[in-house]
Amino acid sequence: LSKEEIAEIMEKPAFDKVVLGAGAKAKVKELFGEELSAQQVVERIVEDVRNQGNEAVLKYTKLIDGANFTADTLEVTQDEIDSAIAGVDKEVLAALEAAAANVKKFHAEKVPESWFTEREHGAILGQKCTPLDRVGIYVPGGTAAYPSSVLMNAVPAAVAGVQEIIMVVPPDREGRVNPYVLAAAKLAGVTRIFKVGGAQAVAALAFGTETIPKVDKITGPGNIFVTLAKKAVYGHADIDMLAGPSEILIVADSTADPRYVAADMLSQAEHDVLASSILITDSADLAGKVDKEVERQLAVLPRKDIAAQSIEDNGLIIITKDIFEAIELANFSAPEHLELLTAEPFKLLPYVRHAGAIFMGPYSPEPLGDYFAGPNHVLPTGGTARFYSVLNVETFMKKTSVIAYTQEALAAVSSQVIKLAEAEGLAAHANAVRVRGN
Ligand code: NAD
Repeated sequence: LSKEEIAEIMEKPAFDKVVLGAGAKAKVKELFGEELSAQQVVERIVEDVRNQGNEAVLKYTKLIDGANFTADTLEVTQDEIDSAIAGVDKEVLAALEAAAANVKKFHAEKVPESWFTEREHGAILGQKCTPLDRVGIYVPGGTAAYPSSVLMNAVPAAVAGVQEIIMVVPPDREGRVNPYVLAAAKLAGVTRIFKVGGAQAVAALAFGTETIPKVDKITGPGNIFVTLAKKAVYGHADIDMLAGPSEILIVADSTADPRYVAADMLSQAEHDVLASSILITDSADLAGKVDKEVERQLAVLPRKDIAAQSIEDNGLIIITKDIFEAIELANFSAPEHLELLTAEPFKLLPYVRHAGAIFMGPYSPEPLGDYFAGPNHVLPTGGTARFYSVLNVETFMKKTSVIAYTQEALAAVSSQVIKLAEAEGLAAHANAVRVRGN
């Protein structure tokens, strides 16, 4: 295929144009009684929550997730958290603690700090860094539980100094939340937890309800409904990025082990039928072996239905003439996760321009980053790694300018400021300088 043809195949639809698969379409029809796009579903839910608050949150939680709450039972209690922690596997808890420590250590290494600089005549200029007051973190929980996402959102928020961390997570049909998710929330210093997911949770955080507090920023990954809801409420609250269905793109040469490549592709495919797994290689031999290996490993996966659908719809193997062409296509795709399974990955690193996170060499599989190494796993998807960064401590801070001139410093520049103000036709601006006696 020509580069243009490959580009067309790899081009990702804009989030608001994502077409739901047959299963999700049927579910929407069943829930809402008519055929609606994901975008229409989200618009409806967000508007209802905005106008009706708790009533709409409770209605959609019952309708979509099957859990029956009242306003009083929507929040996770201290007893629920304590009994969840008492009941979890101690080895998993220890692994979560170790992961939380790694995530904290990594994020605490470079916390933005306020800074000041001097100018002539004693003028001082600077930038003040302030943590956000209250943030909302979305922890996905529809088809899998993600205690790791609790850590990846809440730990950087706590490191940034955010005082109130409000977490939302979808409940199961009995109204419960996964105990490891609750244990991780406690470990990470989450302030309050509400059992609500999907677009209704995002809207509740953005507008506030009688029970769920309005937040300044909403962070965290989720499925297409969550991602579109974040896009819809942006401006009422800030958002971190659009972090939707997961993606992996592997650039590999003939030195790569096909078993590793296949395993890593499937590790994304099992997330979501909309997840995508792409291999780009300059080795036709590797391509053939990976193709077979994916079939073999897929057959024994517990979530093989989701993974098989994802591979069928969004799996791709591309053979290029050399490894640099592979990198060029990877940059075009701007994947959430990029693996470089090549003989010398560090040699390729300078050529990578667009990716959420880069995994180098055979011993840095993507799940290592998902769970444990320390860097964040909340990453931009859908090609938005062209302009979004990985979630980080700065995500939870804002910067404010500081200007402190002395009388002498102002006198030295006042005529020029006045000239600029007058050139813009803003006489009151000019007066504000002139009145100070210059
Ligand atoms: P989720 O919490 O994102 O979504 C579940 C919620 O979606 C439910 O509570 C429900 O309210 C809503 N929903 C489901 N079907 C609906 C429908 N037909 N109509 C309206 N609302 C509906 O959990 P999930 O579904 O398991 O998805 C998790 C996603 O997060 C996956 O796509 C995974 O790839 C992604 N993920 C991304 C990252 C990242 O950093 N980008 C990290 C972890 C997970």
